[in-house]
Amino acid sequence: WSVRTRPAGELPGGERLAMIAMRDETELHAADRTRADFLANASHELRTPLASLSGFIETLRGHARDDAGAREKFLGIMQAQAERMARLIDDLLSLSRIELNEHIAPAGRVDLALAATDVVDALVPLVREKTVTLSPSLPPRGQAVVEGDRDQIVQVAQNLVENAVKYAPIGGTVRIEVSIAESIESALKPRDPKAVRFVLVEPARGDVVRYAALRIADDGPGIPRDRLPRLTERFYRVEGQKSGERSGTGLGLAIVKHIVNRHRGALMVESREGHGTAFTACFRLTSKP
Ligand code: ADP
Repeated sequence: WSVRTRPAGELPGGERLAMIAMRDETELHAADRTRADFLANASHELRTPLASLSGFIETLRGHARDDAGAREKFLGIMQAQAERMARLIDDLLSLSRIELNEHIAPAGRVDLALAATDVVDALVPLVREKTVTLSPSLPPRGQAVVEGDRDQIVQVAQNLVENAVKYAPIGGTVRIEVSIAESIESALKPRDPKAVRFVLVEPARGDVVRYAALRIADDGPGIPRDRLPRLTERFYRVEGQKSGERSGTGLGLAIVKHIVNRHRGALMVESREGHGTAFTACFRLTSKP
């Protein structure tokens, strides 16, 4: 609370009046704190690979100077750390760009099936490296045309498919499905009765629109029930998961959430520990032919 007082005139009898204004600033401070936490986290995340780089530079200048084997190994690690920093900076910039125009509704039309195909094609090398199979099931061209920003919808598909590939076991399968839903309730209906479901971005209620749903399902480790609500927090990662060499930034799902919000869509996760995870992102079908 902030409290301010000031004189407020005099009564005819000579008594002086004062005014007290009290303002509840909880929300104001909460926003400040969120911003400060975000900056602290971002700095920490950038400092970690930087500290590792400095350490290796020192080692290379010192006792590893004449050891060709060690030099090669350290340079490899340094390159991975530099790439990690670049990924972090890209994701931070994406997030801030999306936040800037989150209140402006996207004006374009995007064929969700074509966007998904582009993402699948672009990920062929990553998939081959990990021997994961991508299994797309898409409607014919022109059926799932949604209101949206093409680059942003591609980014949603890419982040979700990349995560699925990352957490899928070697030799696993990632299913990529686009379907049309008559209502948002049917789009968000749980598929696996044994999975736990959590809606990460709630749809606008009362709108009479049809949606197209993009569902990405993997057969990875799944996510514990109590972690599901936190997935879209910035820098949040579920501890104790093996994600291979390319460790994530923890920003991917935060970016997905902001994009889905901007599109007035919906986002759901279903997960069953030991069996896999599925994310469903819903976008509004265009009403115009
Ligand atoms: P990251 O860059 O770490 O993947 P994200 O924001 O995309 O960040 O995801 C946040 C966390 O959610 C991940 O670190 C991981 O713990 C968990 N996660 C996301 N997708 C999956 C998935 N398909 N299977 C299991 N865990 C997942």
